Amino acid sequence: MADRAPRLGDVIDDYCPRCRLLLNHDVTSLFGDDVAKVTCRTCHNAHDYRHAQVPPKRKSKKGDKKTLMEQVLASMPKPPEPPPPPPAPARKKRDLWAEVERIKGQKKD
Ligand SMILES: [Zn+2]
Repeated sequence: MADRAPRLGDVIDDYCPRCRLLLNHDVTSLFGDDVAKVTCRTCHNAHDYRHAQVPPKRKSKKGDKKTLMEQVLASMPKPPEPPPPPPAPARKKRDLWAEVERIKGQKKD
C-alpha cells in the first residue's frame, strides 16, 4: 500500500551529497518503477537517487591519529647517540714508558 510507485515530481527524502544531509528531493528521473534521479529541494543539485542512504563517514580518524602520531614521532629529534668511547689515552703509554725509564734509571743506580 505504501509501496506506491514513485512518480516524477514526488518529494522524497534522500541524501544530498552537496548539502551532506538527508533532505527533501524532487523525483526528476525514473527507471522503471524506481527513482533514478532526484533534485535536492534545498540546493537544487540533481544526483542519483541514493535510497535515502547516508554514506558512512570515512573511518579515517584512527588512521589520522596514527599518522599524526607518526608525524609527531618523525618530527621529534632523535635521541643523541652515546658519545664514542674516548680514544685510548696516549698518556698511559707515555706513563708506562716513563715508568720503564724510571725503573731503568733505578737499575742503573
Ligand atoms: Zn542539497
